[in-house]
Order: sequence, then structure tokens, then C-alpha cells
Amino acid sequence: MEIADQRVVYIHYTLTNDKGEVLDSSQGSEPLAYLHGAGNIIPGLEKALIGKTIGDKLTVKVSPAEGYGERSEQLIQQVPRRAFQGVKDIQPGMSFHAQGANGPMQVTVTRVVGDMVTVDGNHPLAGETLNFDVEVTEVRAATAEEMSHGHVHGAGGHHH
Ligand code: ZN
Repeated sequence: MEIADQRVVYIHYTLTNDKGEVLDSSQGSEPLAYLHGAGNIIPGLEKALIGKTIGDKLTVKVSPAEGYGERSEQLIQQVPRRAFQGVKDIQPGMSFHAQGANGPMQVTVTRVVGDMVTVDGNHPLAGETLNFDVEVTEVRAATAEEMSHGHVHGAGGHHH
């Protein structure tokens, strides 16, 4: 069975940046399961997998535009410390959920100076060219329930 919309795909992958550093990998754990055509994975990777089948191995280079987007300076903001109610000791590296212009987003504290806290709402991989080594391990038809939920159920997917 070939990869197409409304099919569930299982892949093993290793993600490296352009310096060859491994950023993420499924090796040693269960393959990643995703519902093709539902936007579960980044567009550049999803597009490259169309028509592939079990056992296929591929290397995919994904530009920031087809990955996690370009870094945006507008997503870097300074907010007063009092905005972090209930958090005693704010340190760089801490991340929080915040309400952004386009809905909920995750921000990471990058700097704390006096009463001002700098937060960065860019995805950690924004601006990075991503290199995926992928092996397709299984392709099956999605169930009606999976299609209505927009994600995979069972091993490697959602349990609920
Ligand atoms: Zn579900």
C-alpha cells in the first residue's frame, strides 16, 4: 500500500541539522505514527513521503518554510516579571504556555534582567534546515474514527 491521504503511516526517523547534530530520533523506541494528509507532521516531510511504501528509505531536506517556519523577531518580547504570577524564580530556559495573537503558544525565557523577562515564542527548530533519514515501516488504511479525530490511535499514536 502506498502512502496517500487517509492512510496511517509508521516511520522510523533521525533528524539532524545542517551541522550534522542529531536533534531527534525514533531509533530505540516505537516508530512515529501519523495520519497522512492531516497536517500531523511538517509539510516538507509529508510531501516527500507521498507514494512511498513499506521498506522505502529516503533522505529529505526540509527548508524552514516547509518545516517549523522562519525565526520571527516579532515573537521575541519583553514582559514584566509580574506577568508570571505564581512563579518564584524565573530562569532562562523555562518555558510557559501563553496566549498569542494566533491562539495558545509556547514561549521560552531567554533572558532575565531586573524586572524584565525576555521570552521567545519561536519554535525551537524555527529557521533550521532539517535533514530527515526516514524508513517507512508500515502503511495501513485509517479507520473512520481516526479520520474524524485527525490523528492515529493505538501504538505510536493517541491513547484516549
Ligand atoms: Zn482520537
